[in-house]
Amino acid sequence: MSRIGVMALQGAFEEHIQALGRLGAETVEVRLPRDLEGCEGLVLPGGETTTQRKLAKEYGLWEPIRHLGREGLPMLATCAGLILLARNVEEGEGHAPREASAAETALNLIDIDVVRNAYGRQVFSFEAEMKVPFLESVSLDRAPFRAIFIRAPVIRRTGPGVTVLSEWEGSPVAVKQGNLIGLTFHPELTCDDRFHLYFLN
Ligand code: GLN
Repeated sequence: MSRIGVMALQGAFEEHIQALGRLGAETVEVRLPRDLEGCEGLVLPGGETTTQRKLAKEYGLWEPIRHLGREGLPMLATCAGLILLARNVEEGEGHAPREASAAETALNLIDIDVVRNAYGRQVFSFEAEMKVPFLESVSLDRAPFRAIFIRAPVIRRTGPGVTVLSEWEGSPVAVKQGNLIGLTFHPELTCDDRFHLYFLN
């Protein structure tokens, strides 16, 4: 059984814990650096990037997560979590331009540039059926994946080391770079656990 940490500072962490639990993984709520000890993987949930970043720095998790990501700890980052792992973050609609430097804004673990809330204020959330052939490696279910996007970021650029797993309307929405998986949508809000299974594998 794998022991998976779930960053539990803010956002949809409870739903990730439930999804991982359904698949038989042991989960640990991560709030302090010591909670990371013994974890074989880490989930960074969706929520509000600004709040998560502030709390992660206050609780001393920011640099340990960067370190563990570089050391090869497997991570699954969804939506706000993905924004934290990006290289560059551009503020989308409804946000003041940021003042902090790129290094303080994002962890620069996945070589992507993202735009926050890039679908605009009118499109708060939407669902999309995505083709997910790579999930056939972990599941016999061949159905498209019904992805829920909530104030989602758009991935504008992917570096050469980044594999695009799924796209929606011409933009990557699921990416992988080495030990790191990033999704702009919320697999934890559905009962379809294929992405969590892919991560555990
Ligand atoms: N819009 C949020 C942000 O930019 C992310 C939304 C989400 O995680 N669902 O922080």
